[in-house]
Amino acid sequence: MRLSRYFMPILKENPKEAEIVSHRLMLRTGMIRQQSQGIYSWLPLGKRVLDKVNAIIREEQNRAGAIELSMPTLQSAELWQESGRYEDYGKEMLRIRDRQDRPMLYGPTNEEMITDIFRSSVKSYKSLPLNLYHIQLKFRDEIRPRFGTMRSREFLMKDAYSFDLTQSDAIHSYNKMFVAYLRTFDRLGLRAIPMRADTGPIGGNHSHEFIILADTGESEVYCHKSFVDFDIPAADTDFDSVDGLQSVFDKWTSVYAATSEMHDEAAFDAIGENDRLSARGIEVGHIFYFGTKYSEPMGAKVQGPDGKEHLVHMGSYGIGPTRLVPAIIEASHDENGIIWPASVAPFDAVVINMKPGDEACDTTCDRLYVALQNAGKDVLYDDTDDRAGTKFATADLIGVPVQVIAGPRAVAAGEVELKDRKTGARETLTIEAAINKLTA
Ligand code: ATP
Ligand code: MG
Repeated sequence: MRLSRYFMPILKENPKEAEIVSHRLMLRTGMIRQQSQGIYSWLPLGKRVLDKVNAIIREEQNRAGAIELSMPTLQSAELWQESGRYEDYGKEMLRIRDRQDRPMLYGPTNEEMITDIFRSSVKSYKSLPLNLYHIQLKFRDEIRPRFGTMRSREFLMKDAYSFDLTQSDAIHSYNKMFVAYLRTFDRLGLRAIPMRADTGPIGGNHSHEFIILADTGESEVYCHKSFVDFDIPAADTDFDSVDGLQSVFDKWTSVYAATSEMHDEAAFDAIGENDRLSARGIEVGHIFYFGTKYSEPMGAKVQGPDGKEHLVHMGSYGIGPTRLVPAIIEASHDENGIIWPASVAPFDAVVINMKPGDEACDTTCDRLYVALQNAGKDVLYDDTDDRAGTKFATADLIGVPVQVIAGPRAVAAGEVELKDRKTGARETLTIEAAINKLTA
């Protein structure tokens, strides 16, 4: 992408409305724009990051055996009357009427709809286990939307729903998502800690919020420090191994971790002072086993091996991609801007032409641009006639992992400079060597 032809409306000044660093940086880099309170457009730079986050989420859901579909944003109120949640949901639900005056709503979540899809076509235990997910917009009329897309009214959610014949099968399905979540957040460059969450009337201990520690987080959290050293399950994890997944779950839930809602002062105090942490955190995911809560009122049953009808056991599993993007920035930035983990960076490298119009600089940059693109890299080519200082500041601000700087003097010697955004380390390489290094 040539910067001169791109749409990346950078702000020179810090926007006053932004209270936290991620919101400030997302506005300054032109990643998002607020359209009305808590409702955002994702501009091209932001869209690139969001797409990469979604791609990782999708890969890990698929790896764990979940199957993608797509459900609409607008739902009929009827389904919600069946489950009894239409009245209960309260003011967070955006209620709409169509031209026939039928009550509709903008979905805040999809348990009812997925249960309806399930009951309409699945009749036998032989079709189980089943886990269906989508990545779709939700609307919740939050009382206090704030911090940009961290807490917005319209937001993206990956929501998966599992269906099983028995509770113990459902726990295995839960463990699959537990492992998928550990892998997902790790690939996004984050250390997320699963913390026990409230299960309400359902009971049991199968509800976990995945929390990233950050000073600007809205949740108060308490945990053992040992989480930093826990291993992330490998890509070749056998998701069919009941014992294998259970042992990952057991390990990751073996030490104390809870949000303020579930906090147990005595258990926390029992941990030595040096080993415990009380901090603030951002909830980026939530998984929940809720048994027959929806299958019962909505009549989602399958025939079991015994020939009898059984209500299916369900769980739901959410991740917030539009919250994850600011969460990643909260975890990875410095005074000059964002530092993207390579896995979600909007571009892999930025080629900075220090003297557009100079034949040698242009030829070198074109060559780099083409070679990197041919190797499948996403490259931003700064071919603008901005001042050097502006170009460097922009490259730092938008946080692309590698900067390839082509100035007239170096280029005359057949060389370019590489700068690592994270460490600031610089090295001068021949053009050939630079291409080899960046396409390795
Ligand atoms: P919170 O406690 O932060 O309001 P929640 O518990 O209501 O969130 P869930 O229903 O568990 O959220 O939704 C699953 C995921 O969707 C959350 O873990 C979060 O990543 C994301 N999410 C929820 N609400 C919002 C929002 N208003 N803006 C952005 N992302 C959200
Ligand atoms: Mg939650």
